[in-house]
Amino acid sequence: MQPTGRLHIGNYLGALRNWVRLQDDYDCFYCIVDYHALTTVTDPAALRPAVEDCALDWLAARLDPERSVIFLQSDVPEVAELHLLLSMTTPLSWLERVPSFKEKADEHPDNVNYGLLGYPVLQAADILLYAGERVPVGEDQLPHLELTREIARRFNHRYRPVLVEPQPIISDTPRVMGTDGVSKMSKSRGNAILMSAEPDELLRVVSTMVTDVLRPRRSDPGHPESCNVCQLHRIFSPDRYSEIWEGERTARTGCVDTKKALAVAVAEYFAPVRERRHELEARPGAVWEILAEGAARARVTARETIAAVRDAMGLGAAG
Ligand code: AMP
Repeated sequence: MQPTGRLHIGNYLGALRNWVRLQDDYDCFYCIVDYHALTTVTDPAALRPAVEDCALDWLAARLDPERSVIFLQSDVPEVAELHLLLSMTTPLSWLERVPSFKEKADEHPDNVNYGLLGYPVLQAADILLYAGERVPVGEDQLPHLELTREIARRFNHRYRPVLVEPQPIISDTPRVMGTDGVSKMSKSRGNAILMSAEPDELLRVVSTMVTDVLRPRRSDPGHPESCNVCQLHRIFSPDRYSEIWEGERTARTGCVDTKKALAVAVAEYFAPVRERRHELEARPGAVWEILAEGAARARVTARETIAAVRDAMGLGAAG
């Protein structure tokens, strides 16, 4: 995950919640990708606070450093070497056709850097360096993983089979809509509900949510099936969902009530997360220590992979 600061409920429902569960069945590596962030973030002072906020949310949500390897991408410089080495076998045409390159280039026309083009190669290095066998992805991210598989396959074919070709674990990830009700929840669009927000902040943000645009008056029957607020109640108020749905459909309840109830439900749902976050915040440096320990563990695997890759390519002094 890129360090974009405190996480929103879309990050949680679309990724983090699933990552927490995967720890029961797999030996997991979770990495905050600050090298990747440099393709668009240019303020050095902004980076570490964003990393810290991301790590705090991960740990508060119970990504567990005892069970998983949790670390910062740039603390394992071997990934930069693997990126370089894989760039020698990856055809330029594979990268030029990646849609996110064109999208990012359009978004930041004054900063179309080489790193944006090489982004998928660094992403491949992130996975292949740790000999990742399975990668949790949503259906829409499958093409990215396929590119990693192609990069590994090409390397293995040209040299020898040292890289593990990863398989997807396809998770059913909801696409959480933002407070505007029309676009995907995202920090940059300013339509996010933060998972660690305090109850009063939640009430303020949720109150601004666009609800049922097809319901001009309070007395008109609503359309809960297309109302974003009602859809979020499905997740955050599962016991009361049918009652809320019915109330909205029959105009027994108004949007203001439904939004207030959602703010309360989200606050309750994340109460243990907020509590753990506060505990961690009260221990300065704790997060950085956890990330440093994670990086030390990650580097054990990383060094093995890099040694095998260098050897396969004929690099370094003999022996
Ligand atoms: P990003 O920082 O946008 O790359 O998001 C990090 C993770 O959160 C990715 O796995 C995304 O798929 C997931 N994610 C981000 N925004 C949403 C959203 N609105 N709904 C569902 N998942 C999301």
